[in-house]
Amino acid sequence: MDFLPIFANVKNKLCLVVGGGSVGARKAGVLLDAGAKVRVVAPEIGAELAQQPGIEAVVGRFEERHLNGVTLIIAATNDRAVNRQVSELAQARNIPVNVVDDPELCSFIMPAILDRSPLMVAFSSGGASPVLTRMMRGKLETVIPQNYSKLAAFAERFREEVKRRVTNPAKRRIFWENVFEGVVSEKVLTGDEASAEAMLQQMLQNEDNIQRGEVYLVGAGPGDPDLLTFRALRLMQKADVVVYDNLVSKPIVEMTRRDAERIFVGKKRDDHTLPQEEINLLLVRLAKEGKRVLRLKGGDPFIFGRGGEEIETLAAEGIAFQVVPGITAASGVASYAGIPLTHRDHAQSCMFVTGHLKDGTMNLDWDALARPRQTVVVYMGLHGLDTLCAELIKHGLPDTTPIAIVQHGTQPTQRVITGTLATLPAIAEREKPQAPTLIIVGGVVTLREKLAWFHPQT
Ligand code: SAH
Repeated sequence: MDFLPIFANVKNKLCLVVGGGSVGARKAGVLLDAGAKVRVVAPEIGAELAQQPGIEAVVGRFEERHLNGVTLIIAATNDRAVNRQVSELAQARNIPVNVVDDPELCSFIMPAILDRSPLMVAFSSGGASPVLTRMMRGKLETVIPQNYSKLAAFAERFREEVKRRVTNPAKRRIFWENVFEGVVSEKVLTGDEASAEAMLQQMLQNEDNIQRGEVYLVGAGPGDPDLLTFRALRLMQKADVVVYDNLVSKPIVEMTRRDAERIFVGKKRDDHTLPQEEINLLLVRLAKEGKRVLRLKGGDPFIFGRGGEEIETLAAEGIAFQVVPGITAASGVASYAGIPLTHRDHAQSCMFVTGHLKDGTMNLDWDALARPRQTVVVYMGLHGLDTLCAELIKHGLPDTTPIAIVQHGTQPTQRVITGTLATLPAIAEREKPQAPTLIIVGGVVTLREKLAWFHPQT
């Protein structure tokens, strides 16, 4: 660690800014925001800066006496000799000094900040790369939205009361985690502080009720980690245990908390590592052990994901859970493969169906599927491809109807194989697409050629 990060209290303290240009003005502004009084010394000081409340404008060249009574100094002139003089005099008097863009002359550096007061995040690369620092701030800006300041202020309001009423420190930590990660904070963030307060008071009723075990049923999308939601990412980094199957892409599993326990309950076709009922019970058991359990599911948990069954069991056992939607394979695959599912020229509706074979037969409403001007997306359909094509033709779709198989949609290994209802089974036989694959039937598949330039990866 090259620098000690600290937050300085400069309220009502006199700080000095040497330099009256735009940089000096900006630094003076930050100091004012932090409640300081600011003496600005420069041969010329714009009226806008000079007239701000809290500013003492000293027009003239810098002199040593300007350091008198000063707590902290920022030098922002464009004359290195002056900056050096300020730095040397300040350091001789042990007054912290920052010279803008000149780390050698600094006794402290100014971090990039993300201001969600009273929550404040400061970033620094110790001068190594200000651009990288700014980019990191940009990233965090999305993870810590603007209204987090409301949340921090809300917590501050109840801090003492919670401390008094929840005396066990471990429980208190869990209590606050529950507040920040649960419905209370959602209420605060949407501006409904009255409901938030009522809920918080209810949570305070009984210390014994404070427990942490809960389940997050999270849709991880079709594979590309960029398609995760912010909420998914937040929960992934918080969970103690991660329960996942082989539909969740490896890079996404890697993004879960480093020290979280990872449990693979992979399901391959006809080779269920853990039957669904056991997965349901596993989630219950882990939550009852007080763990925060992340059930990561490919795509969206409620689309052919059996998420509904998992939460039924949780609800029956009284375990808190939340469900986070994900981008379902159909959406992800369609956009990465350049197939707009409901393009007006080709389709008025789009159906999602599962082609999972039960007892070797595919039980689908073929009449409904074989309608014109409709796109059909088949999940888990590869093994039934021959049946699918034959039945659609038999029920009235032209055998020239375009159809695509998309393997590993949105992932670097994505591959799109196209043909018609008549030709695709033989093509697939030859090309041997690898699971998971999604099948898309309908005129929209032809648009892919037009739009392919936009998808160089496929
Ligand atoms: N809940 C998931 C679907 C689970 S069913 C979702 O919303 O996407 C599993 C099927 O989803 C697979 O057999 C395959 O048909 C499809 N699938 C999931 N991810 C896919 C991907 N990256 N590419 C192609 N198909 C995918």
